[in-house]
Formats: sequence, C-alpha cells, structure tokens
Amino acid sequence: MIHVGVNGYGTIGKRVADAVRAQPDMSVAGVAKTSPNFEAKVALERGYPLYAVDEDRTDAFAEAGFDVAGTVDELVAESDVVVDATPAGIGAENADLYREHDTPALFQGGEDADVAEVSFNARANYEAARGADYVRVVSCNTTGLSRLLAPIIEEYGVEKARITLVRRGGDPSQTGRGPINDTLPDPVEIPSHHGPDLNTVFPEISVDTMGMKVPATLMHTHAVNVTLESETDAESVRDLLDAESRLFVMPPELDIDGAGKLKEFAQDAGRPRGDCWENCIWGDSVTVDGRDMYCFQAIHQEADVVPENVDAIRAVLDTADREDSMALTEDALGLDGQIGQSMRDPVAQPPTLADGGRDADD
Ligand code: NAD
Repeated sequence: MIHVGVNGYGTIGKRVADAVRAQPDMSVAGVAKTSPNFEAKVALERGYPLYAVDEDRTDAFAEAGFDVAGTVDELVAESDVVVDATPAGIGAENADLYREHDTPALFQGGEDADVAEVSFNARANYEAARGADYVRVVSCNTTGLSRLLAPIIEEYGVEKARITLVRRGGDPSQTGRGPINDTLPDPVEIPSHHGPDLNTVFPEISVDTMGMKVPATLMHTHAVNVTLESETDAESVRDLLDAESRLFVMPPELDIDGAGKLKEFAQDAGRPRGDCWENCIWGDSVTVDGRDMYCFQAIHQEADVVPENVDAIRAVLDTADREDSMALTEDALGLDGQIGQSMRDPVAQPPTLADGGRDADD
C-alpha cells in the first residue's frame, strides 16, 4: 500500500483524497488543513486523520471540537508521497519541508513549472515522471488541452493550435470571486499563460491561447482550432477522440447544451459531487475543413486533475507503467469515458467514492 498524505484539503485536495482511498494500492495517511471548517468536519467523518498546518493552528481545531492527529510535519514523515493541494504559491513554500523529509511530492497547476522536475499529464508524458521526486500536475485547463492534443499530435501532427479559453470566474464555493456581471479578456495579453504552460508538457508544439473570464462557476469552455499536418475528416477525428478513455465525445442525443446539463447528467449518473473527470467534447462541434480541425470542449475544473494526481503518485514511486496506472485509476473511480456508461442508482448503490468505501488506513 502506498501511504499518501494530502496537504491542503480544499476543492482539489478533498477530491484527490477520496480518489486515493478508492484505489486498491493506496491509502490516505492523512489530510492537512489550515483552519477548522466544514471540510475539516467532512474529513473526520470520512475517517481521514486530520493534521493542522502547525502547532499554533492546532488549538483552533481543538476549540472547534475537531480531533487533530498532529502537524503537517508529522504527516509528511508518515507519508510515502505527499499531494500538495494548497493554494497557488503555497506549494512552492512547502517544497523545502518535503525535501527535508526526503518525501516525493506532487504540486498543482497553480505553482510555477520550476517547482518540480516534470509538468505532468498522464496521457501525454507519464513516462517522464517515472521515478522523479517532484512533479507538477498541470492545471485544469492545461490538463484538458493535453489530453485532447496528445492523440491528435500522434495521429496527424500539429502545425499550429489556437485556443480560446472561456474560464469560469470562480469555483462554486469561491463566493468572493467574479466577475458577476461582465465578460473579461483575462489576461488581456496574448498569448495567455495557458499556451506556455501547454509547452511545459509539449515543448515542440506551436500554440496560441486567448483567455477570458465569465460570470459562471460550473466549468470552463474551450473553443479549439488546430491546423493539422495531414488531412483527415471529422468522422475520423471523432473516432480518434472517442477511443480515448478520458475524452467523452458527447452524442447529440443527450441534448447537453452546456455545463449546467452536463453537471446534472453527472449527478444523475451517480458521480460523486457531480464530477466530470473527463474532457466533455461536443461531438457535433468536431469539424474539419482542409487541414483545420475545430471543436468545443467543457472542462470541469474541480475534477479533471483528480485522476491525473492518482497516476502521478504511481509515476513518482514507479509502481506502474502508464497503461496499467490509467486503467487502475479509471477502474477504481468508475471513470468510464462516457459519464453515463456505468450508471448506478445513487440510492440503491452509492458510487465508490461517496459510499465511504474503505477505512482511511486500509
Ligand atoms: P482551495 O483554496 O479550495 O483549497 C486549498 C486548501 O489548502 C484549503 O483547505 C486551505 O485550508 C488549505 N491551506 C491553505 N494554506 C495552507 C498551508 N499553508 N498548508 C496546508 N494547507 C493550506 O484551493 P484549490 O482550488 O483546491 O487549489 C489548490 C491547487 O490546485 C492550486 O495550485 C490551484 O491552482 C490548483 N487547481 C485548482 C483548480 C480549481 O479549479 N479549484 C483546478 C486545478 C488546479
């Protein structure tokens, strides 16, 4: 069993902890938080040992009635690997702690690329992370683009990719974020940081990205145009994408017109928290004109990096190759590339991650 510590139990950390617990070869050593709140309560109810960031904060947990197992320092000492899911910039500050304990660590996409040896996406460059000590799982947007482009690069070659990212203003729980009544070019500069970030995974690819922010919380939407190096047709591209386990090519019959229905579909299908771990590509949007390919995809920012974190754990500890790890992760999560394929009745048979599953220290 791989004992995984999760430092930072927020939007990403809590999902990664549940996904780790669902794996047959992993257990959650504990989760760390700065402050006692509803997420700390849920962590304890799920049986995860709860750690405070430092001694000073331990008292606040005790005053709120939360049992604390120790401090982050102790969690790192007890873990085979740490998933750092603290807010952007804090991960880099934590890097020395992981080095002191000689504990491999994963960082998230909010950190600069130089925090780690490898910027990671399971489908695109799993092998590069095998045996590395420090890996950065790229952001939700870069994960979504890497998964989409990897098979396209392999099959057709890419002359140039141009992507407009229409980004949600904040996650549903980020009540302080906006805009609340505007559509912003964000950043105004072109390319946005997403293009260079994609180059940390695919150094050779020519890509321009433009970013926007809109008053939405559910998902990002990408408008994609790729000039291919060889000719093809829309049906072939659709088949290529459909064969990828983490790409869901949505058939028109589902009548999903946006992130609202998509999230509802995931909830109805019994996905924990209504999470869409896959990229969701509108099948009808896949268009080819000459060597230009186009599509729209929705990216659930809270969820798509979760299976990638699980795979990155096996990569750094070098316990599995890419194919085995991705299959293991997907099988344990019930990630079916279709969302509704292995639909379960959430009342009669709760999904793997929501049912409490195994104890934290299984
Ligand atoms: P979050 O704010 O929801 O959660 C962060 C957690 O870390 C909170 O529980 C907070 O209490 C805790 N924390 C704060 N300071 C800490 C410290 N010093 N030590 C330990 N824990 C601390 O953040 P998030 O949205 O989960 O983002 C985490 C990382 O994942 C960031 O790098 C972010 O850029 C990246 N990311 C976020 C999203 C997203 O949409 N939310 C998507 C992909 C990647």
